[in-house]
Amino acid sequence: MIERDILVLGGGLVGAAIGYGLQKRGLRIAVLDEGDVAHRASRGNFGLVWVQSKGDGFPPYADWARHAADVWPDFCTELEQRVGFKIGYQKRGGFSLCFSEKDFAARANLIKRMHNQQGPKGYDCEMMERARVEKMMPAIGPDVVGASFCPHDGHVNPLLLLRALHTALGVDYFNEHRASAIRARRGGFEVDAGAAVFAAGRVVLAAGLGNLPLARMLGAELPIRPQRGQILVTERLPAFLDFPMSGVRQTVEGTVMLGSSREEVGYDNSIKTDVLKTITRNAVRAFPLLARARILRAWGALRVLAPDEHPIYQTLGDHAHAIVATCHSGVSLAGAHSETFAGYLAQGGLPAHFAPFHSRRFDVQAAA
Ligand SMILES: Cc1cc2nc3c(=O)[nH]c(=O)nc-3n(C[C@H](O)[C@H](O)[C@H](O)COP(=O)(O)OP(=O)(O)OC[C@H]3O[C@@H](n4cnc5c(N)ncnc54)[C@H](O)[C@@H]3O)c2cc1C
Repeated sequence: MIERDILVLGGGLVGAAIGYGLQKRGLRIAVLDEGDVAHRASRGNFGLVWVQSKGDGFPPYADWARHAADVWPDFCTELEQRVGFKIGYQKRGGFSLCFSEKDFAARANLIKRMHNQQGPKGYDCEMMERARVEKMMPAIGPDVVGASFCPHDGHVNPLLLLRALHTALGVDYFNEHRASAIRARRGGFEVDAGAAVFAAGRVVLAAGLGNLPLARMLGAELPIRPQRGQILVTERLPAFLDFPMSGVRQTVEGTVMLGSSREEVGYDNSIKTDVLKTITRNAVRAFPLLARARILRAWGALRVLAPDEHPIYQTLGDHAHAIVATCHSGVSLAGAHSETFAGYLAQGGLPAHFAPFHSRRFDVQAAA
């Protein structure tokens, strides 16, 4: 039996970031990870560290996303120092492009709504007419009429982020250790994983879609589902784009990522040429020079989505010491999971102001 203070089930971006934060605080932890056979959004995502439009209608998430963006730079510097390699993080702000006056008006409405929702705390995002956008991104196509811009947005190489977290976790990261059974016992939990049995006072369920069967082992249902997104990546191009946006970003190395679709197809993570065509067409409309770029690779990956697309953080039913952490923005929230969320757990549990993130918010919506 391997004894720890806390077991983190799942070693994707959410579990690894939380585990890293707990480890830094001196807790004895183990991060148990199923490995490469699992559905892993952490290996297939777009790499945005994003704030704008997150939390529309749900201010606690808007605050959390902004907090996450604020802590990302220090989180990144410390992580890079610890592991000795860079993870390609940049924070220069990000755009969302509009291709018609109607698009522009709708985006302006959303931004205004979020300003109003955030009240005196403020919501730092503005609309820009084409001329200003073109000054910052001269390569935009003729169809772009304007954009929203948020100075807190950024991007990172998500694969290097994941590798850095695993490297930092060192011997506390147990790859190929799928949790196959959880037993509540006096004073905590026992978890079967691979050929080993682990025991701890607390468990954190952070296994993405794998949280569904894990929560059932403790008698709970979680309202999350897969949603496919497809992404393409081009050959390396000379630098032409200083800012990321939801459909196009140029990496530090020069490749350009294009994406990503939103498809309700269950657990099918294959790619479809018609969807890839739409993604590339939209990207070329935004930046016509992309028409000459060669595509190197395309893939599909599954988002981990709650009905309202906001995170779920909660304890599980009668198990006060089993905590769930699942979200659709594991890249964006990595700093907050490590620096803040893990801090809450180290101090004993979720704070009262996290109550809105409980999945019981969907019971209220269903009853209304
Ligand atoms: C197409 C696409 C684009 C995206 N773009 C962005 C973006 O730009 N910015 C952003 O912030 N987010 C983005 N995301 C979302 C982001 O990738 C996810 O929020 C994040 O990866 C979720 O991390 P996770 O650790 O919860 O889940 P996952 O990455 O799915 O990892 C789950 C982990 O749990 C393990 N596991 C599963 N079951 C078990 C078990 N029983 N025992 C032990 N381990 C288990 C798996 O091996 C895996 O490592 C995107 C996602 C997709 C699909």
